[in-house]
Amino acid sequence: MAEPTVRNPTRGVRVGSVTIGGGHPIVVQSMCATKTADVAATVAQANALAEAGAGVVRIAVDTFRDVTALAAIRQQTRANLSVDLQEDYRLAADVAPWVDKVRYNPGHLHHRERNRPWQDKVRFLADVAVRHDCALRVGVNCGSVDPAIRKKFPAEDSIGPMLASALEHCDLLEGLGFLRYCVSLKDSDPAKVVEANVRFAGQRPEVPLHLGVTEAGMPPEGIRKTRIALEPLLARGVGDTIRVSLTVPNARKHEEVQAGRQILADVAAGRLLGDVETGRNGLNIISCPSCSRVENEAFVELAHRVRDLTAYAAHFPITIAVMGCRVNGPGETDEADLGLWCGPKHVNLKRGSATLGAFGYEEVLARLKAELDALIAAKGWKVP
Ligand code: SF4
Repeated sequence: MAEPTVRNPTRGVRVGSVTIGGGHPIVVQSMCATKTADVAATVAQANALAEAGAGVVRIAVDTFRDVTALAAIRQQTRANLSVDLQEDYRLAADVAPWVDKVRYNPGHLHHRERNRPWQDKVRFLADVAVRHDCALRVGVNCGSVDPAIRKKFPAEDSIGPMLASALEHCDLLEGLGFLRYCVSLKDSDPAKVVEANVRFAGQRPEVPLHLGVTEAGMPPEGIRKTRIALEPLLARGVGDTIRVSLTVPNARKHEEVQAGRQILADVAAGRLLGDVETGRNGLNIISCPSCSRVENEAFVELAHRVRDLTAYAAHFPITIAVMGCRVNGPGETDEADLGLWCGPKHVNLKRGSATLGAFGYEEVLARLKAELDALIAAKGWKVP
C-alpha cells in the first residue's frame, strides 16, 4: 500500500462551497467551452461538469454581453463558478457579484490602461474580491508572461519569468493584506510545469497551487502529458487543485473531470506512470481545450484532423501547436515548429514566430503538410 502523501502546508482559500488548500481534498476543476452568452448551453455544461465532480467550473467573460449572461447563469446553477478574465481586468467589478473566484493573468494586465501601474490594477482586483466575497487566482501562463518581466531574463529561460511574475503578485497581494488567492504556473511542456511549481512551492509553501498543463491536447496524449507533470508534483505534496485541459467536443467536456479524478485516485494509490518519456522525442501536438473565446466551432475538428494528417511524422521531434483564438494563439504558437491559430473564417499558419499567411479551414491542411514535408526534408530526415 502506498504511503499517504504529506501535502504542503498551504492556507485554505474558500471558493463557494469548497476550500482549496489547508489540507482539504484536492479540488478538480474544469471550464465551459460553450459561448458564455448562450445561457442555456453554459448552464447545461456547468451542471454537467459539476455532476461529473468538478468542484469549481470556470467561465470565460470578455464582454458586457457575457457579464449579463453570467448573472443569468448564476441563478440557474449551484456549481461554484470561477470567471476567467483575459484582456480587460476592469470587467472584474461587473462579474464578481456572480462568481466565487476570479482568475486574472498578470501577463494580460498591460492590455488596458497601459499607463496605469499594474500594482493599481491588482489593488483594484483585490478590492473587488473583498467586496464580493470572492477568491482570486493569479494565473501565470508561459505564452503570455508580463513583457516587463520577460525582458529581464535571457530568451532561453522560460521558467524564471513565470516564477518572478507569480512571486511579485504574491508579494503585492499580501502587502495589501489579501490572502484569499491561489497561484498557477502553466506551460505546455510537462517538465517545465514540474520545475516551475517545485520552485514556487519551495519559496512560497503556504500559497495553494492550481496545477495543470496548458494546451495538453487531445486524449489520450493530453491526459498522459498531464499525468507526467501532475504525478510527481502531487506525489511530493504540491498542488491543491487541478485541471486536465483536453481538446474534446463540448459533449465530452466531462472527460476532463473524469481524467482529473482518475489521476488523483491513482496518485493516492501509488499507481504512477513511472519513468516515461515526455513525448519530446517524437511529434508533439499541443492544442488548447477551447473555451467561449474559440473563433470557430470547427476548431476541435481541425485539431483532430491535424493529428490524423501528421501521423506519418510521429517519430520526428517536431512540435505543432493548434490554438482556438487570438487571445493565446499568436503567443503560444511562437515556440512551436509549426503553429495554427484560428480566426472566424481563416486559420493563421506559422513557422516558428514567422507568419506564413491565413488560409481557409480546408485549405490550411494541405499547406500545413507542405510545410511539414519541407521541415522534414530540411533536416535530412526520411519518412519511414
Ligand atoms: S486559445 Fe483561445 S479558445 Fe483556446 S482556450 Fe485559450 S482563450 Fe480559449
